Amino acid sequence: MDKNILEENLKRVFFEVNEAKVKFRKISDDIQIMAVTKTIDAADVNIAVDFGVTHLGENKVQEYLSKKDLYNKKADVQFIGHLQSNKVKYIIDSVSVIQSVDSLRLLAEIDKEAAKMQKIQEILFEVNIGEETSKSGFKKDELENILLESAKYSNIRVKGLMSIPPKENIEKYFFEMGELFVDIRSKNMDNNISVLSMGMSADYQIAIKYGSNLIRIGSAIFGARK
Ligand SMILES: *Cc1c(COP(=O)(O)O)cnc(C)c1O
Repeated sequence: MDKNILEENLKRVFFEVNEAKVKFRKISDDIQIMAVTKTIDAADVNIAVDFGVTHLGENKVQEYLSKKDLYNKKADVQFIGHLQSNKVKYIIDSVSVIQSVDSLRLLAEIDKEAAKMQKIQEILFEVNIGEETSKSGFKKDELENILLESAKYSNIRVKGLMSIPPKENIEKYFFEMGELFVDIRSKNMDNNISVLSMGMSADYQIAIKYGSNLIRIGSAIFGARK
């Protein structure tokens, strides 16, 4: 990809995040911008990192493993795609957060692999806020129990929630996620919950309006995917 176009795209995203903060939030709020790398060459990912992107989002285990050694080491890498339990072991040593925890089975497997590495693995719970059959994630009503359940795993630290709401009525779902986040946070005794990961290229300003503090951006940075 043309370096100038990529940098223009990044400038626009940084600008618009700031614009949304001015409109909807406190200017001191920290909103993390994650570049989503699926299908994107490592060389282009590195341009984004050199420009100032500090977080990378990975969707596919195989693709990530084939690219990770080509990445600049500066960025923080998090896993955001659907993750099969048997693949946890391939990524656990190199990702800071697994955002896409969508089952108790996966949670147990992450705890097991993290224990082997003597690591506390940070995770987010994925919430299927629109209750779509096509998407994974916990239902809103399940979350309180899931959170209680997760407390028994000593190598897991729950940091927050992630969601990919339906495009139809997205504002309503962002609102619901914002409420859920505040609710869960108030019930969480150990104060670890701090991340609300929502908002993508088409809607990140609206997500910021409803409390997101981590936006995951692919095409608005790297252009339409092949
Ligand atoms: C692809 C993807 C994104 C980014 O999507 P864009 O619309 O290209 O910004 C964000 N989150 C997840 C989980 C994704 O798979």
